[in-house]
Amino acid sequence: MTSTDTGARQPRVVVVGTGFAGFHCLRTLERRLPDTELVAVNPADFMLYVPLLPEVAGGTLDPRRVAVPLRTKLPRTRAVLGNVTWIDLVGRTVTVVDVEGHRRDLTWDRLVIASGSVTRLLAIPGVAEHAKGFKSIAESVYLRDHVLRQLELADQTEDPAVRRERTTFVVVGAGYTGTELAAQGMELTRQAKQDARWILVDMADRVLPNLSERLSGPAQRILEKRGVEVRLNTSVSEVTGTRVRLTDGSEVPTRTVAWCVGVRPDPIVEPLGLPTTKGRLNTDEFLTVPGHPHVFAAGDVAAVPDLARPGEITPMTAQHAQRQGRVAGINVAASLGVGRRKPYKHRDLGFVVDLAGAQAVADPLHVPLRGWPAKIVTRGYHLLAMPTNRLRVAFDWIADLLTRRQVVHFGLVPEDGISLADADGPPRPQDRVDGFAGSRSG
Ligand SMILES: Cc1cc2nc3c(=O)[nH]c(=O)nc-3n(C[C@H](O)[C@H](O)[C@H](O)COP(=O)(O)OP(=O)(O)OC[C@H]3O[C@@H](n4cnc5c(N)ncnc54)[C@H](O)[C@@H]3O)c2cc1C
Repeated sequence: MTSTDTGARQPRVVVVGTGFAGFHCLRTLERRLPDTELVAVNPADFMLYVPLLPEVAGGTLDPRRVAVPLRTKLPRTRAVLGNVTWIDLVGRTVTVVDVEGHRRDLTWDRLVIASGSVTRLLAIPGVAEHAKGFKSIAESVYLRDHVLRQLELADQTEDPAVRRERTTFVVVGAGYTGTELAAQGMELTRQAKQDARWILVDMADRVLPNLSERLSGPAQRILEKRGVEVRLNTSVSEVTGTRVRLTDGSEVPTRTVAWCVGVRPDPIVEPLGLPTTKGRLNTDEFLTVPGHPHVFAAGDVAAVPDLARPGEITPMTAQHAQRQGRVAGINVAASLGVGRRKPYKHRDLGFVVDLAGAQAVADPLHVPLRGWPAKIVTRGYHLLAMPTNRLRVAFDWIADLLTRRQVVHFGLVPEDGISLADADGPPRPQDRVDGFAGSRSG
């Protein structure tokens, strides 16, 4: 079905994506532009607090805790549930395919592109078919249930080879996502009182390769003390349904490969034909797309000059996306005559990595911490950064300290619902008509 939506009397701001950048942009716009029509296009009716997904996979947090509802947190914004499949910069429209497959065009006076990133696939045989991504609530819940199911099925088999496959879990990528997932996974299987082998693989020569070296050593020691096998300078050459072959020639029998090698910017920007850096849409320091003063971009999808590190672009982190969202909101408002625009500048405040149990590593203001001090900083940071659900998250954490974790699985997420096969690739012109089924967080 096609409908064309024209004739907006008030100016209309359309924000594509309500992740960290889009959500905080809209919050700013709701305060600054009370008379402007605000529209958010996003496949889900919540903002996903992605950094706590490993705790959902580990079973510490209920999945609803990491979902920030748009309806109550952005009361002035009209949320359109769907994916933008095409952006027309000349006609000033976006094409939206809603969650029921209907297509329509939305006009805009200001456009903010904040559609984040998608899981990065590498051309390795079997990855798209057999590995599992880790970027959405569905993927986290699936992974948790899958791990518990494997443990139960391992208990039922008489065949030691099958048992080995079912109780071995491989996490590929030792950035903060993979490192936290391996730590949480090990804790989950420990709480299920079953022997399991967790292997963390990375082609870099240290875990957390993109963070300060002062975090890598302690994080690796904590993981290894817990029993996680860390294989560095190693990648994956093939994945099948029952094993993974590594580049050092070894083969690991497993039915679980979690794919955490990183992300690439949302491919929606590719067909725009505008200048990009590493696939991210170039902006100036005001988050405006050069040559298009009414188009803004922020977060993982945008290549924003890093004024704190001249010559570089800002890294893909929630810390930057959230702040860029706010600045994009201020600058959209300024472009409509409200307030003055400001350049984006933020100096990294450090990073926090939760390693399950009582362990974490963190470098707040670049002071390296580990153990309980790091854990307190890590949890305090998340509680402050979360736009809602703080009390519920705190209760879940306290309950996890005082009681045994519930190790049951519901199997509500089907395996084919989280396929990595369509995670990559830009929309094509025909997607304007047929719809675009990419893997989106939410
Ligand atoms: C498991 C995990 C853990 C992480 N932990 C940390 C951490 O501890 N600290 C940190 O700083 N960073 C962390 N990150 C990175 C951080 O989550 C991202 O940098 C941040 O989410 C980027 O924000 P964003 O708004 O650009 O994109 P996102 O938060 O990804 O939001 C993009 C939104 O756009 C929607 N969308 C995508 N395409 C379309 C479309 N075509 N139409 C409409 N909507 C669309 C998506 O569904 C999503 O809701 C982590 C990432 C992962 C995957």
